Amino acid sequence: MRPRERMEAALRGGAPDRVPVFLRDLTLGLDVIGVPTPEVCSGKFNAELSSRAVVATQRALGHDAVVGSIQFCGLETEMLGGELHFPERTIPTILHPPFASPEDVDRAELPDPLRDEPLSNVVKAYELTSSSVGDEVAILGNIEGAVTKAGMLRGLEALLMDLLTDRGLAERTIEFAARMGEDLADALASHGVNSALFVAAASDNPDIIGPDDFRRYSLPGLRRVVDVVNANGLPTVFHPHGIFTEPMFSPLVSESIAQGIAGFQFAERNDLAFAKREWGNVTCILGGVDAFTTLLLGPEERIIRETEDCLRSCGPSGYVMMCSCSLHRGMPLGNVKAMVDACRRWDPDRLRSP
Ligand SMILES: [Zn+2]
Repeated sequence: MRPRERMEAALRGGAPDRVPVFLRDLTLGLDVIGVPTPEVCSGKFNAELSSRAVVATQRALGHDAVVGSIQFCGLETEMLGGELHFPERTIPTILHPPFASPEDVDRAELPDPLRDEPLSNVVKAYELTSSSVGDEVAILGNIEGAVTKAGMLRGLEALLMDLLTDRGLAERTIEFAARMGEDLADALASHGVNSALFVAAASDNPDIIGPDDFRRYSLPGLRRVVDVVNANGLPTVFHPHGIFTEPMFSPLVSESIAQGIAGFQFAERNDLAFAKREWGNVTCILGGVDAFTTLLLGPEERIIRETEDCLRSCGPSGYVMMCSCSLHRGMPLGNVKAMVDACRRWDPDRLRSP
């Protein structure tokens, strides 16, 4: 099986020849080709270098599925009037959110991801990656959930305060974010993405916004992306943060699946074995070793052991091995390779627990 077929089979709930690995390697590739962050990410965004980093990372680590471009949170910050900081060897950060004052929300115009830089160059990087490795390798698009994106545009604390004191303003910000998400999802799904669209949703987190607002904003926002992506003939994967394998929030998983997603990625501290038992027959389960403890700190033996635990709990069908969140530069490449290799070596017949 080619990596792309393996990924597509798993997302359909099927049993590929082995469990595929998706790294969601957002800025990790900058370490692989050894370039400073601003060289790719600042200004107009360097599509060619971005794609080269993604392809080089896939060649070096051998994972099955990639995000088609280097990406970071707050990509649209400067085109909407905010300010970013680009450190040399770590990820870009938002210095001033674009919607710092309430008037900014009503003044803002939606960017066109196919025309306006830097977004248009990110889309171009996806196309370059697709023409380079798209026949072989699964390429996923990465966008943010509506509340998550709104938190970046307004500043998360300001958005949470708005939800308490000026709900109309919060809703206008979330609506703007949702429309930006639809536009970018559509652009990526038609320009290089070949396997699925991934909705990263760190602040679409019922621990932060509560289950009621998760239902009111995150789920309808997700449905809108699913519809856009389906129209392009592709499935959607959802990755909200929160502990969804505990009783308080577990009903939200079924409600997320009801929006038409093909897969759910569980973040840190979720019980993957429980997730597989509970929802494995209705959605593809994505997730794996904790990015911030196991994968970052090692040692290799622990990474291999925990990778195999996840494979035993969730494989061999309807499961995509990931770590618990996205991968950024600074993560030791040898540790990531140990996880990928452990997954490639895993033999379900030999290692299945009795
Ligand atoms: Zn995450």
